[in-house]
Parts: sequence; C-alpha cells; structure tokens
Amino acid sequence: MIRKSLIYKTEVEYGDYTLNHIQGCSHGCKYPCYAYMMAKRFGKVKSYEEWIHPQIVENTMQLLAKELPRFKDKISLLHLCFTTDPFMYGHEDICQLSMQVLQRANAHSVRCSVLTKGILPIELAELPLQNEYGITVVSLDDDFIRRYEPGAAPIHDRIDALKALSEKGCKTWVSVEPYPTPNIIKQSLSNILDAVSFADRIIFGRLNYNKVVSEYKQHKEFYNQCAEQVIQFCKDNQIDYHIKTGTITE
Ligand code: SF4
Repeated sequence: MIRKSLIYKTEVEYGDYTLNHIQGCSHGCKYPCYAYMMAKRFGKVKSYEEWIHPQIVENTMQLLAKELPRFKDKISLLHLCFTTDPFMYGHEDICQLSMQVLQRANAHSVRCSVLTKGILPIELAELPLQNEYGITVVSLDDDFIRRYEPGAAPIHDRIDALKALSEKGCKTWVSVEPYPTPNIIKQSLSNILDAVSFADRIIFGRLNYNKVVSEYKQHKEFYNQCAEQVIQFCKDNQIDYHIKTGTITE
C-alpha cells in the first residue's frame, strides 16, 4: 500500500506528532480496538479478518525523507503508533521497518515514543537519542491475554523485554489501559503494578466501548479506586504517572 503522507499532529498524551506506517494489526484486540472500529467505519477495512492481516506502507522511508526535515523543529516527541502496533508480534518485516523509522527520526534529532503489545528488541538501546519505550499491560493472566489480545506477545515476554531495555538505561513506560472491570476478570492491580515497578512512567485508563463494563454497576467507584491506587503506588515508588481523561469520575 502507498500513502501520500505519514506524519501528523495528534492530541494523544504519548507524543505531539504520530505516524502509522502499517494499516491493520495482527494483535486483533477484542476490547474492542478503537483503531479497528475507526478503520471499519471509514471504509479502510471491511472486516476483522482484513484488519488482522496488516499491510505495510511501502513508501514509508521515502515519505520520511520528505517529511522529517519539514517537521523536525516542530516535533517534541514522535509517537509510534496511534492506529497500529510498530513491533507487531511475529512480523519481523514490520519490526525491521519500525527500527529504520526510529533510526531515521533520531538521525534528524527527533525523539520518539513507542507503544507495543509485542516484544521490544534490545537493539533499541543502541539508538542515539533518549526515546521512550512502552508496552501495554492490563493483566498478568495468560488466558485473559489470549482472549482479549489474541495475536499479541505473551505478557511475561513483553515485560521481560521492556525490563531489559530499562536495565540498559532506556526510558520506559507502561500503559495499563484499557483496564478491565472485575466482571471481566478478577485480578490484583497490585500484582500488575509490582511487575512493572521498574518503569519510569505508568499510564492508567479505563476500558471504553464495552457494554460488559457498564453492566458492572460499581464501575465508576471501581475506576476511581484503581486510579487512586495507581497514584499512590507511583508516588511511593517515584514513578511518573498519568491517569487518562474520563477514568476518574464524580
Ligand atoms: S495492538 Fe493496538 S492497534 Fe493492534 S489490535 Fe490491539 S489495540 Fe488495536
């Protein structure tokens, strides 16, 4: 697939600009995935089957060669990715292209943030700039992960790869979002926070667009309590935190 442009400004909290050099995502999350819902609504994909067979944007590097010089002074943090996953599990071609994108951005003095449900390669530690590497962890339960993130990397492998980068001195972060309610899975948020306590930053957010959440009558109180727990944990452990808008309610 060929695109006309790649880098665009965004309102998400992970970076002020973003790019998506792949369409679709084999992780096929069933929360559901907001990117999939939008792709379907705007006619970019017809079905879930099509969504989980990702297509690389073939002219990614040519577009970057044109766009990075133009945008580089405006970008404080370039986020990979907003509507797909840059280190898609089991897709070596996508992982290699994402490494090239990061190398090229850093060569233009553009720092990047990365978010994945795949395995972050240790070679990221060799990139010249202080990028921010993140993974999603909403549960440590393998069965839950297989059901809700069917194509994504096993959760402990994901965490181990991030920890290895942290030990190499990289800046790391964890997205605990979209966090499920107890009628979806009963689990300990403390155990999840303990497992990622090495990270420099934790982002916590509720699960949206899922009717099972609204069936859980106490979901507002639940998310308020969880957010409070995350804030306290981060304060106690000197970890930066951010609670996503709409997670804490009256
Ligand atoms: S990893 Fe992200 S983009 Fe991919 S299916 Fe899951 S939520 Fe959607």
